[in-house]
Amino acid sequence: MPKPGELTFVAPRGAKPPRHLADLSPAERKEAVAELGEQPFRAKQLSNHYFGRMSNDPASWTDIPAASREKLTDGLLPDLMSVVRHVSCDDDATRKTLWKLFDGTLVESVLMRYPDRVTMCISSQAGCGMNCPFCATGQAGLTRNLSTAEIVEQIAAGMRALKSGEIPGGEARLSNVVFMGMGEPLANYKRVLSSIRRLTDPAPDGFGLSQRGITVSTVGLVPAMYRFADEGLSCRLALSLHAPDDELRDELVPVNTRWKVAEVLDAAWNYAEKSGRRISIEYALIKDINDQAWRADLLGRLIKNRRVHVNLIPLNPTPGSKWTASRPEDEREFVRRLQSHGVPTTVRDTRGQEIDGACGQLAAAG
Ligand code: SAH
Repeated sequence: MPKPGELTFVAPRGAKPPRHLADLSPAERKEAVAELGEQPFRAKQLSNHYFGRMSNDPASWTDIPAASREKLTDGLLPDLMSVVRHVSCDDDATRKTLWKLFDGTLVESVLMRYPDRVTMCISSQAGCGMNCPFCATGQAGLTRNLSTAEIVEQIAAGMRALKSGEIPGGEARLSNVVFMGMGEPLANYKRVLSSIRRLTDPAPDGFGLSQRGITVSTVGLVPAMYRFADEGLSCRLALSLHAPDDELRDELVPVNTRWKVAEVLDAAWNYAEKSGRRISIEYALIKDINDQAWRADLLGRLIKNRRVHVNLIPLNPTPGSKWTASRPEDEREFVRRLQSHGVPTTVRDTRGQEIDGACGQLAAAG
């Protein structure tokens, strides 16, 4: 397994990922194809192969002459990332992939297969600048934003693997995408938004996934949450709250020193109203830190009667961390108190924990 220092090729600092079909809107694709000296209608053909048929194999594009295929591939389908390794667990129903990007940067995605759905957890940035002390990604800081196509390609690769039957359990379709891998999606707003368009635009412009199956998870960047609400999407918004009081949240989610609990919840309710979707509140239960019954009551009072659902995540301890997951009895009491306020509450399953694929662990081990 290569360590970052051992990589043979490292692009100059600040170099941009090469342009890729998935970076471009349908109109921009036509222009790009014309610039390559090809007829503009080839843009639609290319989109049909990449998005509609999920094919990145030019040999199968029989409606395009071989010489044009080569030009289009060179100009618009550069290799953006290569697999460093796949690691599987849960009887191969969970597969984590470590990717190496063009400049040697490492990011990860996780594919989780359930009986009734398939979910991919993807990265929106290499590293993260939000600095939450319980999150492994936060410890290393932000390396850079991913390009739209680098985000889309994580999903495209997963879809191709499902379609080809490479993932055990037979051919399947991707149903859900969660922006819960590395990075803060709303801090890479433009590219995350374009990636959502590529994923949800009907084929052949995009992959035709349902907006309802896409979840964007945020630490609570309030202005970006309002902006996101105005996009007219029906994606789900998850808010990483982790504490109902400013004193503790300032520590657990440092961006709280900028936007307080009350402001962040207001922005969330605004999103719920505009999108018609329930907000998902993420709350990592940390033993003796944020799991007290009084905090459950405080949280219950803050969010009851709202369009909301609470997702409790048993803390996945990061290497060297002094924190650990709550005792089972404290977790049960926390759930009970929230439910007594009428707040729908579930405890997240901890898929992928043994392959460091659980939240906040991605790519930390390199
Ligand atoms: N930056 C975004 C999305 C990435 S993390 C956000 O913070 O929402 C996805 C979720 O995993 C967040 O709720 C995050 O707080 C949580 N998480 C991170 N590290 C974790 C850990 N060690 N144990 C449990 N949950 C963790």
